[in-house]
Amino acid sequence: MAAPPPSIQFVKGVGPRLAERLAARGIRTPQDALYLFPKGYQDRRRTVPIRDLSAGMTVPVRGKVLSVQESGRGRGFFRGGARLLEVVIADGTGRLVAKWFRYQPSLAQRFKAAEEATLCGPVRLFRFMPEMHHPEILSAEDTADPIHSGRIVPIYPDVEGIPPRVLRKIQWEVVRNHADKEAECFPPWILDKAGVPPLNESLAAIHFPKDDADAAAFREFSSPQQKRLAFGELFSIQWALERRRAGVERERAVPLLWDREIVGEIKRRLPFELTGAQRRVVNEILKDMGRPHPMHRLLQGDVGSGKTIVAWIAAMVAWKHGVQAAVMAPTEILAEQHYRRFASLAEGLPVRVDLLSAAVPAKEREAARRRIREGETDIAVGTHALIQESVEFRNLALGVIDEQHRFGVLQRTALREKAKISPHLLVMTATPIPRTLAIALYGDLDVSVIDEMPKGRIPVKTRVVPEGGRKRVFDEMRREIAQGGRAYVVLPLVEESEKLALRDAVRTAEKLREAFPEVEVGLLHGRMKPEEKEAGMRAFKEGEWKILVSTTVVEVGVDVPEATVIVIEHAERFGLSQLHQLRGRVGRGTRPSHCFLMVGNVQGEEAEARLSVMERTTDGFRIAEEDLKIRGPGDFAGVRQSGIPDLVFADLVRDARMLQTAKEIVGELRRKDPELSSPEHEGIRRFLARRTATVAD
Ligand code: ADP
Ligand code: MG
Repeated sequence: MAAPPPSIQFVKGVGPRLAERLAARGIRTPQDALYLFPKGYQDRRRTVPIRDLSAGMTVPVRGKVLSVQESGRGRGFFRGGARLLEVVIADGTGRLVAKWFRYQPSLAQRFKAAEEATLCGPVRLFRFMPEMHHPEILSAEDTADPIHSGRIVPIYPDVEGIPPRVLRKIQWEVVRNHADKEAECFPPWILDKAGVPPLNESLAAIHFPKDDADAAAFREFSSPQQKRLAFGELFSIQWALERRRAGVERERAVPLLWDREIVGEIKRRLPFELTGAQRRVVNEILKDMGRPHPMHRLLQGDVGSGKTIVAWIAAMVAWKHGVQAAVMAPTEILAEQHYRRFASLAEGLPVRVDLLSAAVPAKEREAARRRIREGETDIAVGTHALIQESVEFRNLALGVIDEQHRFGVLQRTALREKAKISPHLLVMTATPIPRTLAIALYGDLDVSVIDEMPKGRIPVKTRVVPEGGRKRVFDEMRREIAQGGRAYVVLPLVEESEKLALRDAVRTAEKLREAFPEVEVGLLHGRMKPEEKEAGMRAFKEGEWKILVSTTVVEVGVDVPEATVIVIEHAERFGLSQLHQLRGRVGRGTRPSHCFLMVGNVQGEEAEARLSVMERTTDGFRIAEEDLKIRGPGDFAGVRQSGIPDLVFADLVRDARMLQTAKEIVGELRRKDPELSSPEHEGIRRFLARRTATVAD
């Protein structure tokens, strides 16, 4: 057996006390410390003349102390400290004010008028004068020390109980003595193909960049050495996806071939002509279902592109084979809607459709569960209720998951496990996932895209409206309602305070009732019982309510073609993709529709600029890309649940090319050595083992 790894305690300058604090952060060995990376960098290679400072720079400045001034002593909020210490230094090219708002009294003593001082911190401008708040003070000793100055200095994340400078010193020792021992895990051909330098060189540079390095590149995490680590992250994602995919391909499934008879039956029942895109994806899906291996396909199509009918067709083919299909939707309203749609499309045929959701009374639910178990149910439609333990299928052979972004990999797996032999799986999403993200999220799925809207759709007219424009919005609503239209008014669900959100919704409904005394204004919110929600939704659908005020319960899938106006309150609180989803509630009929994005006056220009994308395009993919740029992938629907680890170096948007390269490399590797059993790949095996917890299997 190999010797146990050395403890961090024996790194110079650590000792038992600091070792304990490091251990609290999961750092027990020098190797662990090597993977505690800087979160940023400061370029302290040269001091910069004050005249050349500009806002946002973080650089050292050296000058003579002109004045040291403390104010607010005793009145300070922080007992024992003063409120403000101001030190002015000058270097012959200008003056700089350093400010500390909270400090130990001894700090002021470190400055003596007329002596030299070196300060380093982020520069800001205040009345055209450069300032630094809470800069680091570099002593004469420091300025001679190659760790804390005269170089591009790493800034580490805070580790409780260890001052930043002490931590930096520890890391210096760790890198000096241990970076070289980190064996490269990838063979040279992979590094070549990825275009990145070897690991040990990268580790050393990431902690302490060389003097001639590009400081800006390091700060942006785009230096070649940081790319080496990014590559590792992307590689491990791709590897896990590829394995999952290969696993599915080896499994066997019941082939569900279509035949003339069922296709004829389906065609006779279609309420409209399929679009070219719908026909194409139906072909792709039916081809998959005919194979003796499970289909694993993602159906991507913008809101309103007509995915439901595609799912229905697949379910009908399963029915023809006498096996069961399950259709899972994220909300009760949506499940109910699918249930009705599926049942009515198959009317007159002996197709038994059952609904399973919390909205169904317990007794009926029990009966439905029994029918599902005994195989009387042909198509089971429902919510999460479908994958509960108590549900047992007799011969499930097709699973459909609608609005996949609301579910995670786990639910996908749970549904698969309801079948005795691997079912065909179709997952549908209306969130137009940017391609790059789709590879990472759904790299194990084949993808079909509906990229065409049903004929006759008129793009929704969208306006960002400040509070002052509300009257015009109301006028528009009135006009539309008079012509048989209906209006949604949507409020954001304030997650921290459902109560507040509810109060907001109730108040909005009241205001609307005052403004529109001639029509019924209904209210839907998250606190309502499922049957109340459903009743409300029906009242709106059937036209009893003309205006529906709701928290975002209407977000997904609901289909009310008569609705021609949607007003989204506090639009600035929503992500663009979510707004796009909401907007998809209208524009489903043949009349032109309107979307009003209300922004509070205080939100101002920034919000309007961000939201203006919505005015310019109705292309969900473009909106998603935009959203991704603004918010980053972590916030993107589905990413959190997807099992993708937090990425430190890789950025799924910026590193799209590298993600693709990683995919190719993984493909090549799997052809050469699928189990990584050759000694040449020992390192990769080790590396992946360390990252096992990364992508959920
Ligand atoms: P989504 O893709 O958002 O789930 P739906 O399946 O709910 O969209 O379809 C949106 C609306 O478009 C529904 O009212 C549906 O009946 C209608 N629809 C779907 N396909 C077509 C088509 N080919 N022609 C006309 N209307 C269609
Ligand atoms: Mg849908």
